[in-house]
Amino acid sequence: MKLEYGFLYHFLFLVNVFVRRPKKYNNTMTNPQDSVRTGKDPTKAILSESGLNSKHLCDYVVNVATGCRHGCKFCYVPSTPNIRTRPDMLEEEVGVKNGQKEWGQYILYRDGLGERLDGHLDRKQVWRQTRRGRGVVGVSFSTDCYMDGRAGKITRNVVDALTSHEKYTRVLTRNPILALQDIDVFKQAGEYVTVGSSIPSMDSDQLRAIEPSAPAADHRLRGLQEFNEHGVQTFVSLSPTYPTQNKQDLREQLEQISTCEPAVVFHEPINPRGGNFGMTITAAEEAGEDELAAELDKLRDREKWVEYSVQHLQWVQEIGQELDLPVHLWPDKELIKHVSDETATWLQSWRDRQSPEEFAERDTPNGNLPQFPAIA
Ligand code: SF4
Repeated sequence: MKLEYGFLYHFLFLVNVFVRRPKKYNNTMTNPQDSVRTGKDPTKAILSESGLNSKHLCDYVVNVATGCRHGCKFCYVPSTPNIRTRPDMLEEEVGVKNGQKEWGQYILYRDGLGERLDGHLDRKQVWRQTRRGRGVVGVSFSTDCYMDGRAGKITRNVVDALTSHEKYTRVLTRNPILALQDIDVFKQAGEYVTVGSSIPSMDSDQLRAIEPSAPAADHRLRGLQEFNEHGVQTFVSLSPTYPTQNKQDLREQLEQISTCEPAVVFHEPINPRGGNFGMTITAAEEAGEDELAAELDKLRDREKWVEYSVQHLQWVQEIGQELDLPVHLWPDKELIKHVSDETATWLQSWRDRQSPEEFAERDTPNGNLPQFPAIA
């Protein structure tokens, strides 16, 4: 009997090695505790110009990796050229067959990026500076720069390289607690850095359904509070808010956010465009968040989406005024096409208005906020 088990064991071992063994990808390392496939990004690009100046965020972006460990279901990144145009690289390096469906399951790190950026900045003569982007560099908007220790190590050197060259740097992460490991670099950067986090909702169950691997909202807030206590400027992105949130939910959320004294709170409702919206609904259903799934599903109807979006934007503006918070709304261009003329004027005013954030020598707006029409 013993011999038969021994034979069976060796037979299964050989099958595993020669038949079922997965393809060995270049640079790939997978932690046995971790289902995320990792490798090294061979991309040479260091600093890219960005269209995020339209949102008053930045004129350049630096991404410390391709792919993101958090795998948020609504994430637009897998539908961008950054992922769509590089199927060969993704397959070659980490065996990805479908960059969108497998989002959250692969990461290609850009090790040594900070050192390369340092040399690049020494040589770079011309610096783009738009009215809204203010020459700021966003780190990172196509991944989370503090999603884990390896990304954090790259980010530390990137932030150091940028700020020591006196480039204004906007760090966005859902894990500001991990970013605190580099508080020395942030403090040394002084006015050249701001750190922020996206906090769409304080409902931990709903948030976990949509952002399955990201830290909880109260962790994000705690991290930002601590940065603020260290004198590092903060910002918050209330994005995207969920259709299940009522005015009281948003008020409580903004009250909590006000404790980290952000220089600006950006806000946008969720957008039902793109394949990732269906995945967001499925994720909510699979997590047992039936109400969230049903409310999201209703937004496929354009009228419902317009109604919810306008309502949330209006509420956030009102609550921001009541709490004396520097709110800045991000209404979608598509939304403006489907509202009344008065509402369109109000929303367009937000798109045209400078952000109130005192950062990167911005001329902040003085005067009243755009006024929504009485019926909006
Ligand atoms: S943290 Fe940002 S980049 Fe990463 S999956 Fe979520 S939304 Fe996308």
